[in-house]
Amino acid sequence: MQTIIRSTDIDNIDIEVIKLASEFLHSGDMVAFPTETVYGLGANALDELASAKIYEAKGRPSDNPLIVHVANEEQVKRLVKEIPESAKKLMKAFWPGPLTLIFKKSDIVPKGTTGGLDTVAVRMPDHKIALKLIEYSDVVIAAPSANTSGRPSPTTASHVKDDLDGRISMIIDGGAVGIGIESTIVDVTEEIPMILRPGYISKKMLEEVVGKVEIDKAIIEPMREDVKPKAPGMKYRHYAPKADFKMVRGDVLKVADYINKKTEKLIEQGYKVGIIASDETISNYILGDKVSIGSRLDELTISRNLYTILRDFDDKEVDYIFGETFESEELGHAIMNRLQKAAGYNIVDVR
Ligand code: AMP
Ligand code: MG
Repeated sequence: MQTIIRSTDIDNIDIEVIKLASEFLHSGDMVAFPTETVYGLGANALDELASAKIYEAKGRPSDNPLIVHVANEEQVKRLVKEIPESAKKLMKAFWPGPLTLIFKKSDIVPKGTTGGLDTVAVRMPDHKIALKLIEYSDVVIAAPSANTSGRPSPTTASHVKDDLDGRISMIIDGGAVGIGIESTIVDVTEEIPMILRPGYISKKMLEEVVGKVEIDKAIIEPMREDVKPKAPGMKYRHYAPKADFKMVRGDVLKVADYINKKTEKLIEQGYKVGIIASDETISNYILGDKVSIGSRLDELTISRNLYTILRDFDDKEVDYIFGETFESEELGHAIMNRLQKAAGYNIVDVR
């Protein structure tokens, strides 16, 4: 299959590009498109055969459900059994935006889209191209991240091309994304809303709108075998670079000392080593391929750079990566969640 790549300006959308993409969606084919979080790999969510193509193209396990993207509330109503009060408030506050809500699904949503579950994940993306595509085609679009399963999520059209060229009908290139990590997922089917995946919308932001919010235990205690995540996708190793990736936590100077010593040894043995530091700490490192992920005071930049840095290390065929940790209650919580998963929870404490 030849993958057609078309660019369009987000502030001056080329309707011909949207028309072509819409034709592919109506024929049950796949189109990758930008959203404010990461690039999505879209197909008609109500067409089981179209959803099946997504799983195949990504090599995604079939029990890992897809998020359905909508452009208006009418579409939500068709997809779900009911919209609970908590959901109404969250939709009003954060949609369009990087928040996915889990509802009880209606009968029109095929189980091939929901990984066999009776619930459905729904999101209204805050991106003019994505919204235009959903509105124009009038297709609710099932769209996971447009990467090969297990690789870092794509934040540019060229990342999508690297993974999926020849496997999908079209890529809409709308430039780099704004946030760079996936949406916050919140289950609103229970009395108290529960965060199943951290993202840009933090627990504090949610609680300001709906009161008490819980966090799925599996996110906080990822090492416990007996705690199964409620978002099926969270159990898979995700976002992973090819190199052996270790995170190092503790006092900044001790972290640098640890990484410098390890790096020196590995380079002596002939290995390539990458280091993920921040603007504030990069000068503490001596050897290796040092990269700053951004300033610690600017978490949005860090989140935007995260997957590109991991992919760049893959391209450079680095053997080992050492990374500093980034912890905070806000976006830093989501950043750290992705880094931990990328590192397979391989964290050293040097306190
Ligand atoms: P991705 O599209 O790659 O960002 O992954 C979507 C995430 O949403 C995965 O972690 C899924 O497990 C999660 N998800 C989608 N639908 C549901 C659902 N009905 N219940 C719980 N988690 C879901
Ligand atoms: Mg994904």
